[in-house]
Amino acid sequence: MKLFIARPMTPAVETRARAEFDVEIRGNTLPMTHEEMLRTLAEFDVVVPTLGDQFSAEVFAKVPETRCKLLANFGVGYNHIDVAAARAAGVEVTNTPGAVTDATADIAMTLLLSTARRAGEGERLVRTGDWQGWHPTQMLGHHVTGKRVGIVGMGRIGQAIAWRCHYGFGMDVAYQSRSPKEVEFPAENILSLKELAAAVDFLVLAVPGGAETRHLIDAEVLEAMNPSAILINIARGEVVDEAALIAALQSGQIAGAGLDVYEFEPAVPQALRGMDNVTLLPHLGTATEEVRTDMGHMALDNVAAFVAGRPLPNPV
Ligand code: NAP
Repeated sequence: MKLFIARPMTPAVETRARAEFDVEIRGNTLPMTHEEMLRTLAEFDVVVPTLGDQFSAEVFAKVPETRCKLLANFGVGYNHIDVAAARAAGVEVTNTPGAVTDATADIAMTLLLSTARRAGEGERLVRTGDWQGWHPTQMLGHHVTGKRVGIVGMGRIGQAIAWRCHYGFGMDVAYQSRSPKEVEFPAENILSLKELAAAVDFLVLAVPGGAETRHLIDAEVLEAMNPSAILINIARGEVVDEAALIAALQSGQIAGAGLDVYEFEPAVPQALRGMDNVTLLPHLGTATEEVRTDMGHMALDNVAAFVAGRPLPNPV
């Protein structure tokens, strides 16, 4: 059984992979090239791909003899893999749900607080040496405690964000999801996305990426938001029409945005980089040593199950 891992991993994960499997670990941190994807599908039994590795229908179609039987994706989001095309080629796909939930919810709160309270802008002010000192109307931001948050996509991460907002900040929670959710705190299910957008101070995106949710947040949804409201995106960049978001920020239609992900990642438009009312993070959602190790172990658990002929723990 030959295993290919598409990026360097944490030491704990690399050590386990080398101990348990005949593995090639790619040293490059950039997404796999088209040629690398073709080679790994043809030469390895299992591939551990991740964000940016575009396993499209075209890639599967170009490999007549697919040796690979499993793509054990590192990450819960798998919108870079055409799952139907993989299945048609006899390739199963797994992901790493749960391991990422709390860390990603924490980053959502980081963005929410930083944007509302102008933390990035304030930090830049101190660093440039331009800070003139405290005064009663210095850098007034948006109050967070007790405000209303709207979660778009009330799944694992969406619920973890809602939990933090309710218990940590006494916020009212509203949400939109494909199905209603049972949670241990009050949470209003608002079926219309525009109504939800109009009803909240913070609109937080936690849906999966992919064709179904592409540009879910478009000019109309942004127009429905209050001029004092802030958009937070920890989901996938393509969920937001980035050009429409820039226009909404420039015209003052919304007050700010906190973004961990971008439509054409890692490209971030200069228009966004030039605005002080946006907080911009480089896709840090799961970026802690513990979480990346947990994710790696989860991916390897799927590989181990495949090798042993056991049911895959996390099929998608
Ligand atoms: P999840 O548990 O599957 O939750 C996704 C939620 O979105 C579900 O509640 C689902 O509704 C809802 N949903 C799906 N399609 C929708 C639509 N068209 N309209 C409205 N709601 C929709 O997934 P998760 O573990 O929370 O992860 C969510 C996403 O976060 C991942 O797919 C990934 O792209 C992203 N993520 C980002 C980072 C980061 O580093 N920034 C880290 C981890 C994950 P139902 O429950 O009704 O099906």
